[in-house]
Amino acid sequence: MPANRCFPLFALSVLKYINLRITFGLAVAVMVAAIYYVFDPSEIGNLFPRCMFYTFTGYKCPGCGTQRALHALLHGDVGGALRFNAALPVTMLVVGVYLLAEAKRTAWPRFHMALNSRRAALAVAVAIMAWWLLRNLFGL
Ligand SMILES: [Zn+2]
Repeated sequence: MPANRCFPLFALSVLKYINLRITFGLAVAVMVAAIYYVFDPSEIGNLFPRCMFYTFTGYKCPGCGTQRALHALLHGDVGGALRFNAALPVTMLVVGVYLLAEAKRTAWPRFHMALNSRRAALAVAVAIMAWWLLRNLFGL
């Protein structure tokens, strides 16, 4: 802190470097992680929502097992996480790339536009449909 400035003014000048959207997103992510760390979705009578698609059809949706996988992953059980939903690591990577593209929107406009293109949306949709089909055909 420069000697000629008082602390409140210095604190306000630091605020302009903090991206409020990223800070809010990180705060929400930390709260969700804390909930999934403390509470186990595998326990009978837990508070987590059941998958409506699985309940009505008996088939897994693309996201089935994600809550249990997240709980396992937060406890360092990578194998357990993969057994519950093998697509979770890929999903986390893709979400991370999209968050990075959003954070660097002005610095990397072509990267942001490419990820938000119709072609990229179609690729994500095809990947989700393929995962949905494969996990029900082969019990993944
Ligand atoms: Zn489901």
